[in-house]
Amino acid sequence: MFHDPPADCPLCPRLVAFRAVQRAAHPDWHNAPIPVWGDPAAWLAIVGLAPGLNGANRTGRPFTGDHAGILLFQTLHRFGLAQGEYLARPDDGMTLSGAAIVNAVRCLPPQNKPTPEEIRTCRPFLEGALAGLPSVRVVVALGQIAHQSAVKALGGRLPKAKFGHGAEHRFPSGPVLLDSYHCSRYNTNTGVLTQPMFEAVFARAVALRDATL
Ligand code: SF4
Repeated sequence: MFHDPPADCPLCPRLVAFRAVQRAAHPDWHNAPIPVWGDPAAWLAIVGLAPGLNGANRTGRPFTGDHAGILLFQTLHRFGLAQGEYLARPDDGMTLSGAAIVNAVRCLPPQNKPTPEEIRTCRPFLEGALAGLPSVRVVVALGQIAHQSAVKALGGRLPKAKFGHGAEHRFPSGPVLLDSYHCSRYNTNTGVLTQPMFEAVFARAVALRDATL
């Protein structure tokens, strides 16, 4: 069972206030914490940063409707982790098989920048999400903030586990953590992250899964 916060989670005052602003401006949008989405039997957990304004915050499904979802879902299809056409809508019928997606921070932060306190406050929900995915062998963290929160959620220590694209981190128990640059519009437009670089991370995740079978 996934561990999701309530729709009116009150724990981060700044994000609660921003949620109220978005609800007034866009009453037909999701405008609430984003639930975990994917296969309850997933071997792969993907940890993103936080919902985007026009992506998950609007649609209610992680990475759905914004630029970052294009490369992510294309890659999940390529590796057999997604089925059905991605139409950037939560009712497009696409499903995940073997994978689940969760945000390190479940609510929309202003300028896409959660504060350290907000990241810390939301971490129990990340821990709960990972605990609710008992078959996970590999966690892919998208970007440095997701990496940092995933390290702590998995019981690791940050000075020892430095972020780097393609870096792997092992802890006394639990899944392997694999880092990737975030598949954001900025990173893909500037060439910080290319499609081959992103696919290489998922190819490695598959290899790690097969090595632990
Ligand atoms: S970011 Fe997480 S902890 Fe903070 S209000 Fe949203 S759901 Fe609650």
